[in-house]
Amino acid sequence: MTIVSPVAGGLADEERLLQETVRDFARREVAPGVGERDETEQFDRVLFTKMGELGLTAVPFSEEVGGAGFGYRAWTLVMEEMGYADMAMAVALSVHVLSQSPVIRWGTQEQKERWLPEMLTGTCLGAFALTEPHAGSDAAALRLRATPAGSPVAPTYHLQGSKVWITNAPDADRYLVFATVDPAAGPRGITAFLVERGTPGFRFGRKERKLGIRSSSACELLFEGAEVPAANRLGEEGQGYRIALSALAEGRISIAAACTGLAQAALDAAARYLTERTAFGRPLAEQQGLRFMLAEMAQKVAIARAMTRAAAEAKDRGESIGEASSLAKWTASDAAMAVTTDAVQLFGGYGYSREFPVERMMRDAKGAQIYEGTNQIHRLIVADQVLKRVTGESQH
Ligand SMILES: Cc1cc2nc3c(=O)[nH]c(=O)nc-3n(C[C@H](O)[C@H](O)[C@H](O)COP(=O)(O)OP(=O)(O)OC[C@H]3O[C@@H](n4cnc5c(N)ncnc54)[C@H](O)[C@@H]3O)c2cc1C
Repeated sequence: MTIVSPVAGGLADEERLLQETVRDFARREVAPGVGERDETEQFDRVLFTKMGELGLTAVPFSEEVGGAGFGYRAWTLVMEEMGYADMAMAVALSVHVLSQSPVIRWGTQEQKERWLPEMLTGTCLGAFALTEPHAGSDAAALRLRATPAGSPVAPTYHLQGSKVWITNAPDADRYLVFATVDPAAGPRGITAFLVERGTPGFRFGRKERKLGIRSSSACELLFEGAEVPAANRLGEEGQGYRIALSALAEGRISIAAACTGLAQAALDAAARYLTERTAFGRPLAEQQGLRFMLAEMAQKVAIARAMTRAAAEAKDRGESIGEASSLAKWTASDAAMAVTTDAVQLFGGYGYSREFPVERMMRDAKGAQIYEGTNQIHRLIVADQVLKRVTGESQH
């Protein structure tokens, strides 16, 4: 069930309650340890489990599949609160949801029964494995090879190749892996598989050492003849690229919301600081030049929130979201980068110090301009849609 707001543009009562509950949880349980988790670069699985117990891992999904019955607009409220408290944890949650939503849309009844309960409750952690060492933006060029194997009674696929930059991977239990059954076929050969941790021939490689979101774990995945049952293939052979793109369009709304929260946190921190810090005999907040900066930061946050809300509401109405989700993710991640950079500037020397949170926020913002499609790729997606409206066909 998707909640329809009684007031156009406003939130339903259930959504407000959800927002308050998540805000309380995020500020009480998530925010206090954020600096230490960043320093130690440790993913906190206990915290993720608590998020599952609170029901956050089920928020955007319908009750029919075991979800909480909220829509994507409600999901953006959750993600914004998480991004406000800890961008790394927000990304972990977002990727977990990204890895399970294709099972809901493309899975067989048997796959849904086998995979969803533990994913929706956060008992299991998910990862989404698309990127390879030589194939990021050009995901259709991926080379991880899936070769049919096994016997007629127990068909399998052998997976051979590697993935890089896979968020949650070192800690995850289940992996949505994209491979090709026919490298010459480009996107038409790409096929999705559900792979479990511990599958023989599947192991972890190098851990990614990151600039920001350092407590969100990510690593390389190595497939050395890993044998995956054909029953774990999600969709048909050749449907994987479509599955990946539709999941990423949803994931971008989620990342846009987290970026909005991160930008809001940096704005709030900077505003508080300007009221506390005195220079030239008066609080910095009285300097008009700095007030203008704050106003422009607030403008960016408001635009990011509005674009994110628009994309989420389009998703809830069942509309195509390719363009709206790219616009939202590109706008909100650029807003987060600009606002966190300005926040560092407004803190002066203290902004550059690891004793204060704004330098972490600035580092955390940068990645969002790169993952889930770089912001250059989002320009290509948007331009393609603009041209399609004029010519009636895709230019890509
Ligand atoms: C923190 C983090 C977490 C990630 N998590 C995941 C994950 O969970 N799962 C996963 O599968 N991947 C993940 N990734 C990988 C991410 O999706 C890729 O890094 C991203 O898609 C870019 O690919 P690339 O790094 O290969 O860059 P490239 O594709 O090599 O691009 C390099 C530069 O060229 C630009 N560029 C490329 N092609 C064009 C073009 N046609 N026109 C204009 N500019 C272009 C890009 O925008 C970029 O600036 C993650 C990355 C990061 C940094």
